[in-house]
Amino acid sequence: MNFDLTPEQDQLRDAVRALGRKYGHGYFVEKAKAGTHTTELWQEAGRLGYLGVNIPTEYGGGGGGITELAIVCEELAAAGCPLLLLVVSPAIAATVINKHGTDEQRKRHLPGLADGSQKIVFAITEPEAGSNFHRLGTVARRDGDDWLLTGRKCYISGVDEAGHVLVVARTEDSATGKLKPALFIVPTDAPGLGKSKLDMEILSPENQFLLYLDDVRLPADALVGESLDAGLPALFAGLNPERITVAAMGAGTGRYAIERASEYTATRKVWGGRSIGTHQGVAHPLAHAAVQVELARLMIHKAATLYDAGRDLEAGVAGNMAKYAAGEAAALAVDTAVQALGGAGMTTEYGVATLLGAVRAGRIAPVSREMILNFVAQHVLGQDKSY
Ligand SMILES: Cc1cc2nc3c(=O)[nH]c(=O)nc-3n(C[C@H](O)[C@H](O)[C@H](O)COP(=O)(O)OP(=O)(O)OC[C@H]3O[C@@H](n4cnc5c(N)ncnc54)[C@H](O)[C@@H]3O)c2cc1C
Repeated sequence: MNFDLTPEQDQLRDAVRALGRKYGHGYFVEKAKAGTHTTELWQEAGRLGYLGVNIPTEYGGGGGGITELAIVCEELAAAGCPLLLLVVSPAIAATVINKHGTDEQRKRHLPGLADGSQKIVFAITEPEAGSNFHRLGTVARRDGDDWLLTGRKCYISGVDEAGHVLVVARTEDSATGKLKPALFIVPTDAPGLGKSKLDMEILSPENQFLLYLDDVRLPADALVGESLDAGLPALFAGLNPERITVAAMGAGTGRYAIERASEYTATRKVWGGRSIGTHQGVAHPLAHAAVQVELARLMIHKAATLYDAGRDLEAGVAGNMAKYAAGEAAALAVDTAVQALGGAGMTTEYGVATLLGAVRAGRIAPVSREMILNFVAQHVLGQDKSY
């Protein structure tokens, strides 16, 4: 068992940390409040190779794995810049296209994902289906060689800054007549694709959208993979990277909040010469949150290591547990940090309450804590499914 990062991973961590600190949480908040995006940070991270760490070198990436991408997600978040689109574009879209796309799709999309010049977002959630992906109602029909996509998606992140969206739809299986999932790479300016921005109570430079697909016409090669049989494995291919990287973002956010609070409580004095951090009522909740964040990091490391070793089933269990642990730890850490800062905790200046919405959402998306508990109850504890 090895808890050490490789020297290359250590260097990556230090370099990403330096980049994150160069921009910092003030930059993230400023962009969010102005309703603009963290374009400068994204582009610089792309130029430096951090967005493509998990993409093969032949497509301009770093040739690493999800361990490396998790480092990027965690360190940017630990610097106060939790970028959700890292989870969507390099983690989900690049993995799906690399593992299940055609040669042509890999050549067309991976270099742009690697250098950050292209973003591909991900659309699975639907208003009627919610957590129940078996109820997906977006349908893809054949029209000659083309595909026509019709349906609705909700809460889709980053559609306004992406060139393409990876849409999960259903097609009719010619053998059984049943609907089976298929993934399509849809240009965000495709005729028939409409979007409207959702007002969310999350302070973030990244936005969520409702998507309307009304007979969106796509060429045959928009389908991910050589045939419809690629659909289900392609969909599952994105899940472990998604859970592991979103967990890393949560752990980084937790570290950021605890660091802000610890600096403050070590120096703030309201009872004579002693800092407020001397009082265990202040220090213990922070220490408790730090333990929870560190435990989550351990699980993230395990999940990423298993995933990169190709042990997908074990990575599935560990990735879900890591996502659960990190989601809870991040929410606890930010809430505890706000409390430890007192009134300052609610100010924009101290940069902690600005993360309350994001960490709350991290217990719901991209998979809710309840659905993870269902997964663990069924697949680890052998319980019957209740739904
Ligand atoms: C900030 C943000 C960004 C997002 N970005 C994207 C994106 O880019 N792409 C995308 O496709 N989706 C995205 N989503 C959607 C997200 O994945 C869903 O919100 C999430 O999967 C939950 O689905 P739902 O909101 O429909 O909740 P519902 O399914 O309606 O569930 C509501 C509540 O009931 C609970 N529940 C439901 N079923 C069960 C059950 N069987 N047992 C126990 N509890 C249950 C849930 O856990 C939840 O607490 C995003 C959401 C947010 C908040």
